[in-house]
Amino acid sequence: MKKITIAFDGHSSCGKSTMAKKLAEELGYLYVDTGAMYRAVTLYALQQGLMDATSKQINEAALQEALGQIQITQKQEGGKVKTYLNGVCVEDEIRQMRVSSCVSPIAALGFVRRQLVAFQQAMGKEGGIVMDGRDIGTVVFPNAELKVFVTASSKVRAQRRLLELQAKGDTSLTLEEVQRNIEERDYIDSHREVTPLVQAPDAKLLDNSEMTIPEQNALVLQWAKEAMGE
Ligand code: C5P
Repeated sequence: MKKITIAFDGHSSCGKSTMAKKLAEELGYLYVDTGAMYRAVTLYALQQGLMDATSKQINEAALQEALGQIQITQKQEGGKVKTYLNGVCVEDEIRQMRVSSCVSPIAALGFVRRQLVAFQQAMGKEGGIVMDGRDIGTVVFPNAELKVFVTASSKVRAQRRLLELQAKGDTSLTLEEVQRNIEERDYIDSHREVTPLVQAPDAKLLDNSEMTIPEQNALVLQWAKEAMGE
């Protein structure tokens, strides 16, 4: 059977990754979380003092120079995908609010995007991949056989994200704070100069505000089968 390329794009915290990961599992495809790559670059910038977490000021020249030394890998471990930065597992750290609140300005830098997009395109050369992010159907794989654009209301997304953070033992944030971060990221992602977040004209829209996880999984599996010509 033909191995196709599947692009998932959409807003922050709408369950894209869970859905994309599940679909990849069902199809036996490689799953790639590109948001984790931008998060790993952000963590690196914070660790190396190349970005100030409060003012969000970035030392762009130094970051550009350092980019060549950043190695990002993703490994499937016990049904989960874990992200490594220069050989160290950073899966938990890149999900913390410190990184979430700094990632969009980093992802708005042209030189960061160029490097990560080239890396992502190389990973998907052979097809048989499900990749999730913000510019997968528009920039990384404009010829993807299936493109899904996922969204949900910011309140529903904040509620889900809060539960996720709480499950990891982080009880320091209120619903309003999480919702504010999500809306801020939506705004920066959709208004940045370099490849802003937009729905590709040929993407299928999936608003999952009122859908259960099994319902959305079944829908995208059906779309994938249609795209494979089954
Ligand atoms: O998907 P996730 O929420 O982990 O992504 C974190 C951030 O990385 C997004 O808010 C966005 O700023 C950026 N991103 C991007 N392009 C991608 C994936 C993520 O700009 N392909």
